[in-house]
Amino acid sequence: MYNFNSGPAVLPAEVLQEASEGIINFNNLGLSILEIGHRTEWFVNVLEEARSLIKELMQLNDDYEVLYLHGGATTQFMQVPINLLNEDEIASYCDNGIWGSKAIKEAKLFGNVHVACSSKDREHTYIPKELSVPQHSIYLHYTTNNTVEGTQWHFIPEAGVPLIADMSSDIFSRETSFNKYSLIYAGAQKNAGAAGVTIIVIKKDILGKVTRNIPSILNYQNHIDAKSLLNTPPVFAIYVSMLTLRWIKKEGGLSVMEKRTNERANLFYETLDTLNILEGKVDKQDRSLMNATFLAKNIELEKLFLDECKQNGIVGVKGHRSVGGLRISMYNAMPLSSVQVLCDLMKEFDKKHS
Ligand code: PMP
Repeated sequence: MYNFNSGPAVLPAEVLQEASEGIINFNNLGLSILEIGHRTEWFVNVLEEARSLIKELMQLNDDYEVLYLHGGATTQFMQVPINLLNEDEIASYCDNGIWGSKAIKEAKLFGNVHVACSSKDREHTYIPKELSVPQHSIYLHYTTNNTVEGTQWHFIPEAGVPLIADMSSDIFSRETSFNKYSLIYAGAQKNAGAAGVTIIVIKKDILGKVTRNIPSILNYQNHIDAKSLLNTPPVFAIYVSMLTLRWIKKEGGLSVMEKRTNERANLFYETLDTLNILEGKVDKQDRSLMNATFLAKNIELEKLFLDECKQNGIVGVKGHRSVGGLRISMYNAMPLSSVQVLCDLMKEFDKKHS
């Protein structure tokens, strides 16, 4: 199958192979990864390798801590403000898509939200270039890649306040200055492993400033003190994430991931731009290199296109239920050859129906 799903999504074949071996006989111990305690040396080594690979790939120093937490990126919409924002303070948020809007809704439960920029006026089909960020904002939050709408920030906003990013759908897909951020979070299920765990990268100096009582399990400092083992973590999801990070490093790290990201996206968009029946949905300069959204000329042709994809083993092409249309996701483990197969089908479809 050619797997263009948006997440959970395509994983490297060798990661799947190793993960399945780990279920039966982890590290030749005669035990499964699923049946060893999370505080055993065996699992702690997995967790520590994963945490240190993240710091290495992001080139971060010891001012930063890496956590693997439960609850998906959605929990971070609440956990970020509960840890960082006092009730009488302001945090700035970019409103550039469905996930950013959800983050805003949660933050409002804990403090004041200032919307620094919004693309709502054109159904989130572009990234605004002008931001208004009050200098007393505790932080600026934005979603680096809008998975649903298919837009991506191709620059880091200069805000003059601590920067927080939801990188769920483009983490590890490109080189960037990760040390410009005070907090980064990402659900692992796209570029960083299996569903069930979220990566949090925190610059420690932003913590310890709120006056509210934070429930123990939501308090980042408690997780840092416990080295990400405050309670039983999702051991298998962390194991798969560690294998995925090992794979990224072995393939050549983020520079190689970025090169492949560009090759896949260039091939797809260059093909799309030659067609009559299918066309892109978002401003070209803001197109996502991970999630490409597009439309067919009419709904009948869209259905026909989805049918043809299905018949050819191409899956995950339907747009998100909230926006409709078509969408493909091209994460790190997606081979260029799969994009080529899709592009060939698109050209043939276009010729037949033009
Ligand atoms: N943020 C972004 C950018 C996402 O793409 C998603 C999920 N697709 C989420 C947040 C929500 O993640 P989760 O389902 O892990 O809570």
